[in-house]
Amino acid sequence: MTQPIDLQAFDLFEFCRSSGSAAGEIAARELPRIIAETSAEAPASAPDEVFRYTMSGSAHDEAAEPGKPARRRLFLDLAVQGGMWLNCQRCLAVYAEPISTATRFEVVASEAEADAAPMDDDEIDVIAGSRRFDLLALIEDEILLSLPVAPKHEVCPAVHESLVTGADGSVEPEPEDEQEEKRPSPFAALASLKTKH
Ligand SMILES: [Zn+2]
Repeated sequence: MTQPIDLQAFDLFEFCRSSGSAAGEIAARELPRIIAETSAEAPASAPDEVFRYTMSGSAHDEAAEPGKPARRRLFLDLAVQGGMWLNCQRCLAVYAEPISTATRFEVVASEAEADAAPMDDDEIDVIAGSRRFDLLALIEDEILLSLPVAPKHEVCPAVHESLVTGADGSVEPEPEDEQEEKRPSPFAALASLKTKH
């Protein structure tokens, strides 16, 4: 069942209970935290690039334990695909990092319940539902969590010239190494103080 929904204020509980599904595209410009993480050297068209999402809700009734009422658990499956412009840490050039996430969330009644959820089940993230749920914020979270800690090309197109050679074409050591060599060792400084006494 597909239904039109307000992506920043829909009833997530009802969406799950009714096994709702939705899919669409969201432009990067609608995701401020994504724009903030986008490389300054990204093409001018970057804010127009879209992330595709698909999501579906479901409800599962757990068999009742003796003396307890049956419990209905709600789940949201969300997948996001797209790309983000980042700077490669190896060659510094801007590049497109592919984004592809697929996450199952258990939807609980409140933030307090989400916080209290046991952490031992790594397979399922727990989120607090809402009658005015903000899907864009969740999509932002998913994209940001999927970013590499150290963004890099798989294979850099070419190493940046300034990192390899000096102005005359000779190979220069990296500045940090140079400083390291010139800085006197603290033990050497102590030794020279001692000899002056
Ligand atoms: Zn690179």
